[in-house]
Amino acid sequence: MLGVFCLTFDVLSSLLSFSCSLVVEAKDGTISVASAFAGHQEVVQDRDHKFLTQAVEEAYKGVDCGDGGPFGAVVVLNDEVVVRCHNMVLKDTDPTAHAEVTAIREACKKLNQIELSDCEIYASCEPCPMCFGAIHLSRIKRLVYGAKAEAAIAIGFDDFIADALRGTGFYQKAHLEIKRADGNGAIIAEEVFEKTKAKFHMY
Ligand SMILES: [Zn+2]
Repeated sequence: MLGVFCLTFDVLSSLLSFSCSLVVEAKDGTISVASAFAGHQEVVQDRDHKFLTQAVEEAYKGVDCGDGGPFGAVVVLNDEVVVRCHNMVLKDTDPTAHAEVTAIREACKKLNQIELSDCEIYASCEPCPMCFGAIHLSRIKRLVYGAKAEAAIAIGFDDFIADALRGTGFYQKAHLEIKRADGNGAIIAEEVFEKTKAKFHMY
């Protein structure tokens, strides 16, 4: 599956380089110039989907290993994955070992720096206030998440993860781009909860 995504990304990248000067003649004879911007949007979408898929894979992996809840996060620097992590609350006996916090700690260690201002984070689910705080403190420039917090709340996770943050000044003033995945990215991320809920005990 992952191989397919990588291939698609490469194909789209090469299409983009052609699309700037691509003249298209439609069947009715009208001629138009393909928009490079539209191609760029597709490449960004595909790139986001590729990394979000890895975060979702981590969510499944964490439950399969018995390490914690069904949450995954990936930190990306210049199109390269720095770390991919999952929730480690049970394994580490640590209520703060959420996927995003774990990924930020590991990425900082690996890059040997306390700022991740050139990095993006992909989270399988909307970050809770603690993780959002950690993302803010690490200066990560962009957050992409899959499932809405309500999908986790629906299977029993604490509803503070949505209510405490949205609409607050903290959320609005954070200096990072926040994108919620749509389409297939949102679907695969939200499926995680239904597919794993029988495999772990709520903590
Ligand atoms: Zn969290």
